[in-house]
Amino acid sequence: MPELPEVETIRRDLKTSLFSREICRVRVYHDDLILGGISRRAFQMKVRGRQIGKTERRAKFLLFPLYSEANLNAPPERLMRVQLRMTGQFALQKTRPNTEDFQHPGVEFLLDDGNTLYYDDIRRLGGFDLLSLEAWCQLETQLGPEPLSSAFSVKVFAEILAPLRAPIKNTLLNQRRVAGVGNIYASEALYKAGIDPHRPAGTLDEGEIRRLRDAIRFILSAALNKSGTTIRNYRALNGHSGSFQNDLQVYGRAGGMCRRCSGTVEQTTQAGRSSFFCPNCQH
Ligand SMILES: [Zn+2]
Repeated sequence: MPELPEVETIRRDLKTSLFSREICRVRVYHDDLILGGISRRAFQMKVRGRQIGKTERRAKFLLFPLYSEANLNAPPERLMRVQLRMTGQFALQKTRPNTEDFQHPGVEFLLDDGNTLYYDDIRRLGGFDLLSLEAWCQLETQLGPEPLSSAFSVKVFAEILAPLRAPIKNTLLNQRRVAGVGNIYASEALYKAGIDPHRPAGTLDEGEIRRLRDAIRFILSAALNKSGTTIRNYRALNGHSGSFQNDLQVYGRAGGMCRRCSGTVEQTTQAGRSSFFCPNCQH
């Protein structure tokens, strides 16, 4: 599932090519890819003829500001929000990609430069919705801080964790606590910081909170530098793979040797997701 580094990689790939392009035609292949109770027809009407502003990301969402007039400095008419969930992927080119993993047409946006933005989604758990700026600002306040921004200070992180009794691993997956971290990078950050994923979040001391904050930032930045992690479905734009999977220390390595202590990496289930950790190195 794409997490912050994967979604940010896609944003960086798209932002220049999409900026100021007009959407000339929209084709929606499946109603269930349009979220938020909007009909396919209403979605098409509200998107067609609009110009795309600067592509943004918040947490695991991609945001395309849409303008009805050619003034990209004014507030947008609305935002088109995309969640890729498990298997959403984009291609931007003249003709539909003819690769094996891009065979599930979802939504297509024909642009005024002759390119088409193709959205493909085999499991169709992701999708698009349209939000007013006010509605988005309201939703946005419910998300935790962006971990790579200066807002994610040790002080802020400590205040978030202090009242929580949930395990720290579950807490990191909760987008209301910290935005953009998912299962892979939560496991990796806890290993790097030497913190047991089962620890109640509120029991971490200041030194541990600092170590964990630094580890989250380090791991996300390193993954971003490698265009993310491709284990199964994730692809960056136009089918490119990430390469951070080669750098994973514990995720997916149950039964393997810990690279720090030569003990055994263990796997457990927390909040319905697999956690990977070394019981010798994480306390
Ligand atoms: Zn170890």
